[in-house]
Amino acid sequence: MIIGVPKEIKNHEYRVGMVPASVRELISHGHSVYVETNAGNGIGFSDDDYKAAGASILPAAADVFAKADMIVKVKEPQAVERAMLREGQILFTYLHLAPDFPQTEDLIKSKAICIAYETVTDSKGRLPLLAPMSEVAGRMSIQAGAQALEKSHGGSGMLLSGVPGVEPAKIVVLGGGVVGSNAARMAVGLRADVTILDKNVDTLRRLDEEFQGRAKVVYSTEETLDQHVLNADLVIGAVLIPGAAAPKLVNEDHIKRMKPGAAVVDVAIDQGGCFATSHATTHADPTYIVDDVVHYCVANMPGAVARTSTVALNNATLPYIVKLANKGYRDALVQDEHLRNGLNVISGHVTIKEVAEGFDLPY
Ligand code: NAD
Repeated sequence: MIIGVPKEIKNHEYRVGMVPASVRELISHGHSVYVETNAGNGIGFSDDDYKAAGASILPAAADVFAKADMIVKVKEPQAVERAMLREGQILFTYLHLAPDFPQTEDLIKSKAICIAYETVTDSKGRLPLLAPMSEVAGRMSIQAGAQALEKSHGGSGMLLSGVPGVEPAKIVVLGGGVVGSNAARMAVGLRADVTILDKNVDTLRRLDEEFQGRAKVVYSTEETLDQHVLNADLVIGAVLIPGAAAPKLVNEDHIKRMKPGAAVVDVAIDQGGCFATSHATTHADPTYIVDDVVHYCVANMPGAVARTSTVALNNATLPYIVKLANKGYRDALVQDEHLRNGLNVISGHVTIKEVAEGFDLPY
């Protein structure tokens, strides 16, 4: 199969669909890979690195789209990219169609086979191609929180770890899933005083086993939430109710009563956020202050560490790219129900019920 990797064109998007190591893997399976020039430049993968891995470099996205049987990207295709898709071509990338009618309409028109990373499942019902970005965001949330607590950002001037003779910061993590457990690992590593709140008892058991007392693991109720949030120096928002907006666990009154100079990092902001006072921010201007509490609410946190994010994403996507290339999309989708769950649009039809219903389209 001929695989094409265009350069990402969304503002400040430096990730890339395939790293040179993934290209090499595809070449070893007998496929050809065409990469747009400078596709990986922003994160230190040069055209020469791709050539050394066996790829051919093309001067423009249009050349890549014209040649490839399968396009591998990171972000949802932009309008100019959608116009280059053709009937029968495979598109493998994040799509997030539910809130995006113009994209859905264009993908239907293209008659391409559009497989979204975010709806591929695994045998435990998890989302294996979303997990790497949650891992990145969870780990980053502690860095972001550490900075927010610095005086220059409006914080209380507290070092997360403390120093000998000075207490560490109290970090409260709301939600102990992929984001929350990764945040807690970083916070425990820094020797902060860490408490994780979750509503799922199995998750609490797993976290308790993992942290062996180095993080407190608490069942989340209104009472425990009040108690821990009001006492915290840093709160990480990492809850998720699949398919729904994030619950607003922390209300305006909590924020008013938190310690002056405390910080909140709302990782769940991409689902609307779990603090009533949150609104999405950007890497260029990541924080703002409400009632003396510093808020960090960047909706695409992994973009800031594009190199790590790209490699982590490729580690997760590569087996599926190889499967699609080796078997062709029909056999790959028929034989693997989890990859089939990734199918969003095929030959002009939407195959995700919620998306079709949301836009009043046939399903
Ligand atoms: P996850 O499903 O692995 O974990 C969510 C956890 O929240 C679960 O353990 C669940 O039991 C818990 N939870 C749900 N309701 C709760 C409640 N009322 N009280 C306490 N806990 C509750 O999800 P995840 O992968 O960790 O993702 C968390 C959020 O982070 C999602 O909204 C995701 O979209 C977001 N995210 C944001 C970024 C970003 O850049 N901002 C990046 C990656 C993920």
